[in-house]
Amino acid sequence: MPIYEFRCKHCDHRFQKLCSLGENGENIACPSCKADNPIRVMSGFTLNNPGALAGSRGDSCRGCTSSNCDGCRS
Ligand SMILES: [Zn+2]
Repeated sequence: MPIYEFRCKHCDHRFQKLCSLGENGENIACPSCKADNPIRVMSGFTLNNPGALAGSRGDSCRGCTSSNCDGCRS
């Protein structure tokens, strides 16, 4: 099952939750303020996408100009 990220409309709290496919947050409550119907946020995080994960990690060597830095290729 995929992990979805949600953002609470009420308090702006962001959290992640394991959901069945197609679930849109109707049955989920914000863990912070208990408001329901959080907004589902699409993140590169989800599944089967190591490229997206590596891309998001690229932040750590943003300023790197070395030609042999593997992390800078993507
Ligand atoms: Zn909330």
